[in-house]
Amino acid sequence: MGRLDGKLALVTGAGRGIGRGIALELAREGAQVVVNDLGAEDCEKTAEAVRALKADAYTAPANVSRFDEVDRMVEHIEKMFGPVSILVNNAGINRDRRLVKMSEAEWDEVIAVDLKSQFNTLRALAPRMVERGYGRIVNVSSMSWQGNFGQANYAAAKAGVIGLTKTACRELAASGITVNAICPGFIDTEMTRSVPEKVWDIMVKKIPAGRVGTPEDVGRVVAFLASDDAAYVNGEVINISGGMVL
Ligand code: NAP
Repeated sequence: MGRLDGKLALVTGAGRGIGRGIALELAREGAQVVVNDLGAEDCEKTAEAVRALKADAYTAPANVSRFDEVDRMVEHIEKMFGPVSILVNNAGINRDRRLVKMSEAEWDEVIAVDLKSQFNTLRALAPRMVERGYGRIVNVSSMSWQGNFGQANYAAAKAGVIGLTKTACRELAASGITVNAICPGFIDTEMTRSVPEKVWDIMVKKIPAGRVGTPEDVGRVVAFLASDDAAYVNGEVINISGGMVL
């Protein structure tokens, strides 16, 4: 018996990295998982890994920064696979550059993928969850929400995620829905592998735990927040960082 037996979870941006780690941990707890990412092939790779755990997996490729695509995706998922009980808003990108050199496109793209996408999925799914009187929503923010050199766009988006989360909690909690945000610290994925070696070493020195985090470290916390053990945890912002201080 898993804590998420019989629950259907949608994880965005789950083709690799943290999203994939979350999808696998939810499956280990018994959930059926719908894998979203931009590309169908990436979705399928994670779905296969989920099935290898003897859990059901489905794919739903879509660009979550576009409301029309998300609306269609949610409609399709619920028609084909059933009601979504767990939503994990994980998809994200970074386009780092100092504020004085940042282009409008770099600003717009990050705000659209890291923040607007979370409004899109909430707007499409929350009314359905309200009707059913149940939902678990986990929004992926970042410790960078507090401000980080070269990340004006990313920090603004991730701070926005926290405002969105706390507002959604106030509006949805009475309908049996929890909405929490997580702030991963420095996690080993393609996103962090793209930083120069010097920056990697500096970041590791900031982690009291003495190691970089893994997607599974994040996935296990999300599995808890998605479970009924966390029924009374709502509107919270939880760091998953090995004690890192930015
Ligand atoms: P990642 O390895 O780059 O994976 C991100 C995934 O999101 C990719 O599979 C990507 O697809 C997908 N994606 C991007 N844009 C999308 C869109 N518009 N619609 C659907 N899927 C999209 O990044 P990660 O490190 O796992 O990060 C996952 C989340 O954690 C992000 O929100 C990130 O900001 C957050 N986070 C990460 C860290 C860290 O240390 N890694 C720390 C704090 C917060 P493509 O491959 O097609 O681009």
